[in-house]
Amino acid sequence: MTAGDPRATRTPGPPADSPLAWNVAGLLSDGVGAARDYVVSGVDIDGGEDFTLAAPIDGRVHLNRTNRGLLVAADFTTVLATECARCLREMTLPLAFEIHDEALPAVDLKTGKAVALSAADEETGVIQLTDHHELDLEQPIREAILLTMPIAPLDREDCPGLCVVCGLPLDENSHDHPDDDVDPRLEALRGFVAD
Ligand SMILES: [Zn+2]
Ligand SMILES: [Zn+2]
Repeated sequence: MTAGDPRATRTPGPPADSPLAWNVAGLLSDGVGAARDYVVSGVDIDGGEDFTLAAPIDGRVHLNRTNRGLLVAADFTTVLATECARCLREMTLPLAFEIHDEALPAVDLKTGKAVALSAADEETGVIQLTDHHELDLEQPIREAILLTMPIAPLDREDCPGLCVVCGLPLDENSHDHPDDDVDPRLEALRGFVAD
């Protein structure tokens, strides 16, 4: 084995230490059609600047051994903390999302050699297992949340939004503003004319 040879045995990094990662070496060594099921319960992830969760993630993960790797079928629920696109009040939004993807080994289970993804697999965005034969779904889950969350959530379907005069939500208080609230410069002008 020579240094820099892309086919050389990989030096494994640290194993993924995540409640959203599973070691699938056992499943990979089972025959085609073998399956595993996992339950995800109460997992918090930090969405950074992309999103904030108001509740942890729950769900189920079903894995099927194929001739190439694994088929991943998973469904999850969580609650998004966000704000109404019209009135800007904070709100929460229940979110359900699914992952249906193929996962392929990064390292051949028998030989320990790195397995490169084909250009076609790279393009379709298959999930690659870690060097430790772990399926880590944290990144696919982040991407699924981003794809599922609405661009303009509403706290109620008929939210009237903000008052253009006072800037407060239209469904709070009265917005029967006297004309002179509109613009103090007009008020000054009116006084001038009255004289
Ligand atoms: Zn609103
Ligand atoms: Zn108003």
